[in-house]
This record gives sequence, C-alpha cells and structure tokens, in this order.
Amino acid sequence: MIIHLKKNINKILAKEIAEKYQAVELINENKIILITPYSVKKIDEKYNEHVDNSWIFDSDIQLASKKYFPSTREIKIGKFAIGGKNRNTLVIIGPCGVESKEQIQQTAEFIKECGLHTLRAGSFKPRTSPYSFQGMGIEGLKLLAEMRDKYGFPIVSEVRDSSHADIVIEYSDVIQIGAKAMYDHGILRKCGKTNKPILLKRGFGSTLQEFVQAAEFILSGGNGNVILCERGIRTFETKSRFTLDLCGVAYLKENINLPIILDPSHAMGYAYGVPDLARACMAMDVEGLLIEVHPDPKAAKSDASQQLNHEQFKKLFETLKPIAKAVGRTIV
Ligand code: PEP
Ligand code: MN
Repeated sequence: MIIHLKKNINKILAKEIAEKYQAVELINENKIILITPYSVKKIDEKYNEHVDNSWIFDSDIQLASKKYFPSTREIKIGKFAIGGKNRNTLVIIGPCGVESKEQIQQTAEFIKECGLHTLRAGSFKPRTSPYSFQGMGIEGLKLLAEMRDKYGFPIVSEVRDSSHADIVIEYSDVIQIGAKAMYDHGILRKCGKTNKPILLKRGFGSTLQEFVQAAEFILSGGNGNVILCERGIRTFETKSRFTLDLCGVAYLKENINLPIILDPSHAMGYAYGVPDLARACMAMDVEGLLIEVHPDPKAAKSDASQQLNHEQFKKLFETLKPIAKAVGRTIV
C-alpha cells in the first residue's frame, strides 16, 4: 500500500504508522510517503484524518506501477528528456568497454557525426571469467569525463559492485547497473541515494516481477529516475547469446511507469543479428535503444562478436529513422 500523509502530520505519529505497518518512508516535496508490504490493504480508521491519498496493490510492484502514477515518468538525460509527454527515443551507442583514449575519442567523433548525444562505455566490467579484461577502472572514467567536457555528451557507465559505486556515480551522468548486478543491494541502495538517472538492466535469470522489484529498491530509496533495460534472458536456446523478451517489454509498457531502453546487442551476442533486432526494438515504441559500437570490433577487449563497426551502425541508423517516424518518435 502507498500512503501519502498530509503535509502537516506530526513526525512522531508518521513514525508510529510506519512502524505499525512495516512501511518504508519516503520524503517527496516535503510530503511523507509510506510504502507498506502489499499485503496491507487498509490502515486503522483512526489514522484517516492524516491521510491525503492511498493506493492498494496486488504485488510489491508499487511505486513503479501505472496504478500509482499512470504515465511514463519523465527523466532528463543531458539536454533531452525521455518519458513524460515527449516522444523522444534516446539512441545510446558506444563500445562495451573503454579501452584507450584513441578508441573513446573515435567513438565520440562518430556519435557527433551521427547527430547523436549520448556516450556509453563500461570501465568496471563484470566479466564471466576472472582472466579476461576487467575494464580500465577509474582511468577509463576519467577518459569518459574528458569526452563529456569536450563534446557535451552525457556519459553512461556501469557499476560492477558497491565498492566503487560512489566513484561511478560521481563521474557518470547515467549509472548503469548490469544484468549480473541487478540483485546487488549495496548498488541498489547507493543508487537510491543519488538523483542521477539509473539504467537498470534485467538479470538474465530474473522474472519481470523480480526485475521491477529491484527498481523498487531504488525508487523507495528516494531516486525516482529509474530506466528499465531489457537485454535478453536465458532460455533453452543456445544459437543466440540470450533471448530478447519483447513480450516482457509489452507487459512493462502496459503496467509500469518507468521508461524502457532495449539492448539488442547483448541479447543477440552476434553482430549479424543486431540490425534486424534493433529495428524490431524501435518498432516497440520505447524510450531508448542501447547498441554496442566499436571502431574495430575484432580488436575489442570484451563483447567483440556483437559490436557493430561504424559503417554497420551508420547503415542501421538510416533504417531506424523511418521506423521511429512510423511509431511517432523522435530519435535523440
Ligand atoms: C554491458 O552493457 O556491456 C554489459 C555488461 O551488459 P549486461 O550487464 O547486460 O550483460
Ligand atoms: Mn558489453
């Protein structure tokens, strides 16, 4: 249950209600909001005079539910916003990881040439093997910050674990929580304490319920700027790296008030399939696409097989434009 308490409520009384119903307390515009477990369907009548408004739910998808806030939340990224009333689709490109100044500089130039505005690259990479490239760490974040200063692009970068969450939050404009980190409560809680947008990727073994509940940790921590990213889930199929769950996206669009970004690159795992999938993603009428692009994919230190080179992306980009138009969206 979400309970909006009246502005003038005595703080001690608010605490009493919160404790009685095991509620998480959230302050928004000087208003106290209580979020109880969904099993609470009503509170004692004696508190009614202190309640402004309340909502009941059939699961712990609460703050993210369209039953609570009926449209997609607006989130500002750089000079553009996604969600809300606008119809922007943010096309985010960049390599899997920052590898060198030259590589990230070439990428930034390419983004500018395409007329796009956002640069994404990981610098703390969550790899499946301890023996592969783990990212440049803080040095990579500094290179990304240099590109932001030079080109004005907002930077999207990934936090791998909570030990370096503060530094990634400090350097990035959008903080990516990767699929493997979706359950890391240290990260989720730290991301709840900043106002910067959080790009939360779906764990590849997570249900939609678990995915959105991970977002609820950030939302109930006080950060309303959460974007959901579908990047493929594990199924019995082995011919592609993962399976992009577009049915799940339809569910999220219908029921959840958070903007959605789709990542065809990690879902497919092979560059040959990325353009067709990216077009399908654009046709899903979502707030953003995330596509891995590298100046020389063969030489990439991570996710080499799925990254598009600049020529391949350019060709794809031209075909995304009419699809965006057909679904009434503007690419930014
Ligand atoms: C990435 O975005 O480069 C990445 C590691 O993705 P995921 O967390 O979806 O595997
Ligand atoms: Mn990657």
